[in-house]
Amino acid sequence: MREVAVTAPAKVNLVLRVGARRPDGYHALATVYQAVGLHDEVAARRADGFSVEVRAEREMALAEVPTDHSNLAVRAALLLAARHGVPEGVHLRIRKGIPVAGGMAGGSADAAAALVACDALWGTQLPQERLLEIAAELGSDVPFALLGGTAVGTGRGEVVSPVPTSRRLWWVILESTVGLSTPEVYREFDRLRPDAPPDPQVPEGVLTALRDGDVAGLGAALHNDLQAAALSLRPGLAGHLEHGRVGSAHGAVLAGSGPTCLFLTDGQAHAAELVERLSSHGLGHVSCAPAPAAGALQLR
Ligand code: ATP
Repeated sequence: MREVAVTAPAKVNLVLRVGARRPDGYHALATVYQAVGLHDEVAARRADGFSVEVRAEREMALAEVPTDHSNLAVRAALLLAARHGVPEGVHLRIRKGIPVAGGMAGGSADAAAALVACDALWGTQLPQERLLEIAAELGSDVPFALLGGTAVGTGRGEVVSPVPTSRRLWWVILESTVGLSTPEVYREFDRLRPDAPPDPQVPEGVLTALRDGDVAGLGAALHNDLQAAALSLRPGLAGHLEHGRVGSAHGAVLAGSGPTCLFLTDGQAHAAELVERLSSHGLGHVSCAPAPAAGALQLR
């Protein structure tokens, strides 16, 4: 029986500016997303109903990933079927390479991959703009997982526009087996930052550094408004970030709402060196990945 397989990348936020909570409950965001070479894969087969199975490439908080219709990949399939009158169901098999609840939008990657896979399986063949609209309904980070590359995100993060870059970057990624809840981190952010502006902006410097391939400038420009909130909930993470500074990374920053820590390096050799150094501390799984990576991509 035919199976369609699609990969989708994890994201990092080079800059994440968080504004005040909007009347609809979401926070206004201004961010620079970058897709990194760490992927989930979603394989889709025709079925009568909608179901999902999940496995992981290595130890991660798999128990937190729902296997019912609340799984974001299943929600993506259900929404696509409902909006376009598809009379069939699908069985999804997810292979996770992106840490669960790690701030790297793994659930959103699965939703994006499921949309592309089901669109191919069912032959709906929607134009990218339509897929982006459905993606935005599913979650703020889903449109970017479709698009990949490097992009500015505004609104609640769902309005994405690609930005030019001139250099391949190498990130070192330090995972934690215990996730952090994104809503909890936002609640802590609200407590710590009652003065958050209504209209956060992406600083020009980060876009200039990306365009010029200035890794040192980019390292200095890394910024995450959720970091203080995540560190307040998990103080030990400050020490993890410090290890990267000692290891001469150009910059260290928390991934989204954490707890994954990201280190920007000089290139592949420097990244491999830092992976080895960080691994010796036994803090969690450490890997390196190039960026920018492509968005959701059909493999077969
Ligand atoms: P967020 O995207 O909310 O910022 P995150 O990037 O930190 O979250 P995710 O791995 O996307 O982390 O998962 C957040 C939560 O979403 C999980 O704890 C889980 O309960 C739920 N979830 C739903 N579907 C999935 C999925 N396919 N993969 C992972 N988590 C999922």
